[in-house]
Amino acid sequence: MTVYLAVGAQRVHTWLVRTPELRLLRGASAALSAQTDINAPAMKKVLADLRLRACSEAGNVDGVVVAEADSLDTARSAAPRLVRHLAGALPGVEWSAWRVSASTYASAVAAALQGSVARLVAAPHRYDQPVADACRGCGAEMRGLSNDLGPDCAARQGATRAPRALLDDLKGDWPDTFDDLAGRGGDPQQRRVRAVGRKESSSQLALVNADGNKLGSFFEALNTFDLDVPNLRNRAPGDVDFATRTAVEIAASSIHEPTDRHKSAIPHYVGGDDVLVSVPAARAWTFVTELIRGFSTLQDTLRACLACDIPEEGAARELLDRIAELSLGVGVAFTHATHPVSDATVHAELALKAAKREFRGQAAGIAWVDLTADGLTGARAGRRWIQVVSADEAFRQLLPTPVGASIAEQAALEVFALPPAARHRLGQILRDSSLGAAAGRVSTWAGRRAHDGAAVPKAISQLAQDDTDRLRALLSRARWWPRANREDQP
Ligand SMILES: [Zn+2]
Repeated sequence: MTVYLAVGAQRVHTWLVRTPELRLLRGASAALSAQTDINAPAMKKVLADLRLRACSEAGNVDGVVVAEADSLDTARSAAPRLVRHLAGALPGVEWSAWRVSASTYASAVAAALQGSVARLVAAPHRYDQPVADACRGCGAEMRGLSNDLGPDCAARQGATRAPRALLDDLKGDWPDTFDDLAGRGGDPQQRRVRAVGRKESSSQLALVNADGNKLGSFFEALNTFDLDVPNLRNRAPGDVDFATRTAVEIAASSIHEPTDRHKSAIPHYVGGDDVLVSVPAARAWTFVTELIRGFSTLQDTLRACLACDIPEEGAARELLDRIAELSLGVGVAFTHATHPVSDATVHAELALKAAKREFRGQAAGIAWVDLTADGLTGARAGRRWIQVVSADEAFRQLLPTPVGASIAEQAALEVFALPPAARHRLGQILRDSSLGAAAGRVSTWAGRRAHDGAAVPKAISQLAQDDTDRLRALLSRARWWPRANREDQP
């Protein structure tokens, strides 16, 4: 048995985005990464002083330090000191620690998921000071004596490097402001070409929040599995983090254009199975579908690992089934570049929850909310979140020759093919019609289009009868859908 001590940052997203300044937000991502890097000399010394060793099985996840100790007593006395060290470096973060004796780190994670570990919590610094003394960077802490930034923002400002080894290969500088990112490299020629039919598209962003589905069930199954699977148990936690980081790399390069002056994505947080990234709005759908595709390679990695332990598939069936369930849920908030990122984070999290709820965590799905248009009112109909699409459907509709597997999917293709003015008109009809009248009015509109010589949008008429809310969601998706028609006929 090994004694594991894990210290992790809590509510990371909320802490990261409490400043509206992108420089301080990027500094926070970098500082969190650097301060919890188990391979950094400073952290190695801290661990050695506490008689701890870095745990290699856990990977090197941003915001998390996992160490091994010789005894529970050593871990017990080291835990508060390690937490104090991290809280000293990043005073705004809330840290939580747990310790447990287990055969592997994967078993320790399963124990933590079940709550059968000893925990320690350190609350972040809180100040009850007049507003006049608030930090300029975040307003959530007291300003320093010789600096208008508080200690947490000073730590952010001091960390200018990018989070470790993320998007290194992507050409271009890190954008300094959200406007720079939204402007997609600032190339005026490209801006004009890419934004056909949409003047404002170079000032809009998407905040993407993604999170793994069914990882808890996988780790629990791994922990209780009867046979010895040392390869899988040792490698799985690190493989999850690696797959997530690789997926972000792949997705970011897929949206990068050769003429971009800046990197095409800003990863605010990527750790474990958790992703928070800003990208230009017009590239968001490509980014999220590639992110989901990239993360799905985790299944292959874990299966290969398991095959080394148990070559015979039948004996490994239970674990293979759990591995096949792993996927990514994604929430997207479309906003103007000047929209507070803290508010965008709240909306992206709501969307992520909706994506997971819609598919019960059993398949990759994407839910979105468009704060540049209808906001939450458009995303929901009553208690139902309507702006949601399965990853499979999105993949089919992004193929060179898109495929519509159902009436609703055919309607999606018809909506994307409509010229912007026709989509606008259809949206007006849906908005202005009472519940019972919408289908009839859409049908009249479709008939008129046919009379004028345009293709008959049959599936749209059908969907207007079956599910008007779904049709409304398609119009919202078309706003940023890469294959949507942007050109009106003269
Ligand atoms: Zn501050």
